[in-house]
Amino acid sequence: MKSQSSDQSILPGAVIGVLGGGQLGRMFALEARAMGYKIHVYSPEMDAPAGQIADIEVVGQYEDEEKLTHFVKGVAALTFEFENVSAVATSLAEKYVPVRPGGNVLHISQHRLREKTFLQSNGFPVTGFRSINSLAELEAAAAQLGIPAVLKTAGFGYDGKGQVKIKAISELPAAWKAMNGAESVYEAFVDFEKEVSVIAARNAKGDFAAYPVFENSHANHILDVTFCPAAIPSELAAEAVTITRGILERLEVVGLLTVEFFVTKSGKLLVNELAPRPHNSGHLTMDACVTSQFEQQLRAVCNLPLGDTSLLAPAAAMANLLGDVWAHGVPNWGAALEDPQVKLHLYGKAEPRAGRKMGHFNVAGHSIQEAVAKVSKARSLAAKL
Ligand code: AMP
Repeated sequence: MKSQSSDQSILPGAVIGVLGGGQLGRMFALEARAMGYKIHVYSPEMDAPAGQIADIEVVGQYEDEEKLTHFVKGVAALTFEFENVSAVATSLAEKYVPVRPGGNVLHISQHRLREKTFLQSNGFPVTGFRSINSLAELEAAAAQLGIPAVLKTAGFGYDGKGQVKIKAISELPAAWKAMNGAESVYEAFVDFEKEVSVIAARNAKGDFAAYPVFENSHANHILDVTFCPAAIPSELAAEAVTITRGILERLEVVGLLTVEFFVTKSGKLLVNELAPRPHNSGHLTMDACVTSQFEQQLRAVCNLPLGDTSLLAPAAAMANLLGDVWAHGVPNWGAALEDPQVKLHLYGKAEPRAGRKMGHFNVAGHSIQEAVAKVSKARSLAAKL
């Protein structure tokens, strides 16, 4: 297929390719099909959450250049729902079709050290950090940045995987051992007040749109509940959006990018992490915003006008459904859905393992308290607690 010039719109009827088969690809595929696009999904697993919704599901390894080339030649644009795709794969795809966001954005966001270095050198606020390749470097970083701290593998970590919290100097050798010799990042611990995120889109024309700020709480390093708008002063929310816009523009993102922030006890924002795709914290946009984050991804990728990001209600909340909810058998969906405001989303995963994201509940409501109470209650009822 011929490559498209960057300002050309890709119209309904076209085929959009998705790398990755998880729930983010599934929800993107549902929105894209609703708007009349065709979806081809490429992922290493058969019957993946996104593959179930796709017009065509291709099972292949991201390293299989021949298979990937064949796949890419059959789509009008390529996006992804999983960012740990090799630079080889994205540069190969870029020869044939627009890849949105581009390989440069993936290259930075899939490696903590590159990401933190990019942010710091462009004046975006981050906690102090050092690159670590030996115990001696770890000891030096602890002396310079202090303890407590978090040691993280530089590449391929998510949901708190590949991380060790360090609370005393005596823990340094064990922390370095836990990294298994992998290049790591030492981060000064942020005694944060709360965690918030901004999801924003940019199309090839340079139009920008951000959602209201989301406030996130985690359990065991996995997102648990999100509500919107975040309970932070409006100037701080505006600043979070300004920082996000700066990052999208500096990276020339075409597509969606999520910025995760810490809000410190003194009311300052620090960027924790970037994700070049829709994000778990944006799932409530599906039922509570004019345009869902997945439709927005599609609009940005296809260079269509961006959709309205406003909330349709004063507040909204989302509660994740992990495999743990299945601990006492099939969840009691009937009880959970008794409240007619509660919306259920399930990802088509057959095996409910502990900690595995299986679905979520959304509620739009009159207040943050009401929306959070409703999603939490629905989840307890589902889990037969
Ligand atoms: P990450 O994988 O970097 O998003 O980290 C997962 C979670 O660990 C974050 O959402 C925080 O709750 C916590 N965390 C990560 N880095 C730090 C840090 N430097 N200081 C305090 N908490 C952190």
